[in-house]
Amino acid sequence: MIVVMEVRATQTQVDSVVNFFTDRGITPLVLPGEDRTAIGIPATLTTDQRTSFEAIIGGMEGVSKVTQTSYPYKLASREWHQESSVVQVGKVKIGKGFTVIAGPCSIESLEQMRESAKIVKESGATVLRGGAFKPRTSPYSFQGLAEEGLKILQGVGKEFGLATITEVMSPDMVEMVAKYSDILQIGARSMQNFPLLVEAGKSGKPIFLKRGPSATIDEFLLAAEYVLGQNNAEVILCERGVMPLDRTYTRNTLDLSAVPVLKEHSHLPVIVDPSHGTGVAKYVLPMAKAAYVVGADGIMVEMHPNPTKALSDGSQALNPEKFSQLMSEIHRLEAALG
Ligand code: PEP
Ligand code: MN
Repeated sequence: MIVVMEVRATQTQVDSVVNFFTDRGITPLVLPGEDRTAIGIPATLTTDQRTSFEAIIGGMEGVSKVTQTSYPYKLASREWHQESSVVQVGKVKIGKGFTVIAGPCSIESLEQMRESAKIVKESGATVLRGGAFKPRTSPYSFQGLAEEGLKILQGVGKEFGLATITEVMSPDMVEMVAKYSDILQIGARSMQNFPLLVEAGKSGKPIFLKRGPSATIDEFLLAAEYVLGQNNAEVILCERGVMPLDRTYTRNTLDLSAVPVLKEHSHLPVIVDPSHGTGVAKYVLPMAKAAYVVGADGIMVEMHPNPTKALSDGSQALNPEKFSQLMSEIHRLEAALG
């Protein structure tokens, strides 16, 4: 339920509405807008409460209208925010045009990141990726260079004029990662780590939220809601593939139908990750092109100067040649389809 106040509603009138709910043990979310305040009420109300509250609140001084939302999420919904959101990171505008985020799975060394950044920059892509904290299935696999990796990412991003993105895995690491990276990535395995979502949201940094491997669209958007609820509007959604029926040929099933669904029901930008979505380098190019066609706002692609030497996800990484082929095919699509 959303209570929209009149343009000239006074603070006392806003407080009366807020108090009505807090007196009943319900915590409303006050959203001051440019010319009027809106008050969001959590979706946990019973049908009886909805009906009786709508009548009472609708009659209160300073209230313009009471709208029942049909979605369990509010801030992430297009109903709530009709215009598509653009997340600006330096000069990069995610949600306007087609953004390409590229780089290796893991940050391995300064040389590897410099080589990667050079290729990313020359291709026209604008955001450099690389993990410093890696969520690995096995504790014996390479775990990332931690803070040393973050320093490399920051230095190389500055040197090449690229925005940067890296994953943060736990709430206590948010402050440190936010110090070095322009965008904070919440990995698929962390999509429902609620304390992490809250802490990342509080950092004020743009948050790149990856869909959990078995998350529904509602669960995905409710996770985004945790970040948005921290007064952080800079959320980017990423479809990265869901649990496959069959792992024989692909690592995950890239759910491209999620793109138009998310674009219809949410105003947030949507990026597709065809690398984790397929797990196979040769399938990245066709799925990247498909992402463009279904209306994604961009892609995140793993690219390594020498995939055979990669310390993680080498089998899905594009080599520089394949990456440049991908970029030229995306440019051809842009020219043809606009
Ligand atoms: C990644 O982008 O490096 C990554 C680990 O992705 P995901 O969380 O989607 O598996
Ligand atoms: Mn990876």
